[in-house]
Amino acid sequence: MEYTPAAVAAAAMQQVAPADLHRLTGPALVRRLRLIAFHLDDGWLDLTVDGLDMPLTIRQDHRMVFGGEGISAVDYLRRVLERGDLIDCIAAPTEAGRVPLSLFWIHIIYVGQPRDAGDFSKKEDGLFAMRAKAGEKAERIVAKKLHYSFGHSFPPELLDTPGHFEIRYDSTKKRRKPDRRCLVCGLTFEIKKRNRDHRFRVSHSDGRPFAAENKPDGWHAFVFPDMKPRFMSNRVIIDAITRGQFDPGSDEYDSWADVRPDAVAVSDPPHC
Ligand SMILES: [Zn+2]
Repeated sequence: MEYTPAAVAAAAMQQVAPADLHRLTGPALVRRLRLIAFHLDDGWLDLTVDGLDMPLTIRQDHRMVFGGEGISAVDYLRRVLERGDLIDCIAAPTEAGRVPLSLFWIHIIYVGQPRDAGDFSKKEDGLFAMRAKAGEKAERIVAKKLHYSFGHSFPPELLDTPGHFEIRYDSTKKRRKPDRRCLVCGLTFEIKKRNRDHRFRVSHSDGRPFAAENKPDGWHAFVFPDMKPRFMSNRVIIDAITRGQFDPGSDEYDSWADVRPDAVAVSDPPHC
């Protein structure tokens, strides 16, 4: 089953409280379980949640679908979820001391009235939450690395997960982009998340060249499928583009430059 509010409603599945998870008699929807640990073993993914003394379990390669886009259970965990997040899930009766899952997703909190949403309400919530939360996670991975390894300071919302994903229906207020600037030294960073490859892809076009949009003393951080950041100074990227050592590309939304790996070097950002 896909996760959409409509699909969950159509299935008329019983919703049970987290405390009743260990005594299910059929499939059930359970909301607001707090993820505190996970374990990968022999093709299985076990999730440990607060207040339950047995793990939730699902095959690592189990394909979950959100808004028509498939993702394996283990990739969803890696890309989207952070320790302390609340998850919702479709669970089945206990088997051999584990609670089998067929689906789980980041808990979504809605703010505002759906009637105020405009075009927004046409988006598929589960897919939107998956993509946007993955971006937030990548951003926090980078901010944490800059904080704990290099001494930079950021507002708390850039370092810690709020534990859920928020969907705002009031279209008048745009999602606030957190300030990606060190509160002490002013170092700026921009995140580029790559889910399936290792390209050093930056925004660039003839009309909006990289060098005009990015100061040379700022930094880019590339987060590849292993979810570890690689830092590169904007100066290095500007020099590579100036020398023509990049492959341009575009689609209907964006134009970019794939900077050639042999033309640039990743390096540690400066300490604060
Ligand atoms: Zn700093």
